[in-house]
Amino acid sequence: MTIHPLVSPWGRFGLYSFFLDAPEPAIVDTGIASSPADGMAPALEALGRSIADVRWILLTHGHVDHVGGAHALWELTGRRAEVVISEADAHLLRSRRTHVQQYVDVRSQYLSDPEGVERQTAMAADAISGEMEPSVLVRGGETLSLGGDVTVSVHALPGHTAGSVAYVVDGQDDVFVGDAVQVHGAANGFPGYEDPRSYRASLEHLRDAVRPQHLYLGHPYRTAGGVPYGVELDREQAQRALQESLDVEARVADAASRYLRDGLQETGSAHSPFARVAEELGYDKDPRLEPSPFFTTLHGYRVQFETEELRGHG
Ligand SMILES: [Zn+2]
Repeated sequence: MTIHPLVSPWGRFGLYSFFLDAPEPAIVDTGIASSPADGMAPALEALGRSIADVRWILLTHGHVDHVGGAHALWELTGRRAEVVISEADAHLLRSRRTHVQQYVDVRSQYLSDPEGVERQTAMAADAISGEMEPSVLVRGGETLSLGGDVTVSVHALPGHTAGSVAYVVDGQDDVFVGDAVQVHGAANGFPGYEDPRSYRASLEHLRDAVRPQHLYLGHPYRTAGGVPYGVELDREQAQRALQESLDVEARVADAASRYLRDGLQETGSAHSPFARVAEELGYDKDPRLEPSPFFTTLHGYRVQFETEELRGHG
């Protein structure tokens, strides 16, 4: 079964979706609201395929740039495609407001942008084509049949989001991970994950158990040299990207835990209260640029640290 990458631009990011040319065709991830009509439909036409024939919409996780086009794509299939997402991220498909709430709960604490909520509300209105109920909820361990002898297995990969999953084409070990493999991050130059410990365990699962023959990432994530990985990684590149992601996580964890133990400090720095972590890691990019993985990730270590402190002293 052939896989065709479909790329659509969004600001500083490149968004990757994938067309699985199965008897029941599937698209993995949907970009933003405009991506299905502007990017996917013409690309499929050029391949001699029609977007109306897509029968599966497989969502790797609930972030705007992956689910934003889901409703629009579903409409283009005559509402016939099955829409698959994990239980833990389904609220992000059901409601635009939950995206704003995630911003309020975490990043707004650090970004101190008086117009942040308005901006997020406008972004969700623009980028998400519609709120919808998924037709298939997964949690990892399921097998989906795409017709003929093509099956796709679902693997839970929590960390980047609670409900991140991989879709693995059985037999050919093509693995679609969305944003669960961050390496050094995308345009922001910092890896983004909500739960550091789960993120690490998911990377180890991919490296040791799934062992992708081909690995497909959600964005052009970068190597240590700042060079973006291509859209399709072969087995060797995949193992390197997984190991590099683990190494980066270990470095961030080490710096974060040391400074969390000393106590966080509010400073004038844009990286405050994690300025010393940024300094030690040599991270000098603007952490305020949304989606701001620097603060999402450091907040994750902070929550983990505070939870352990409570337990230790309890
Ligand atoms: Zn994401």
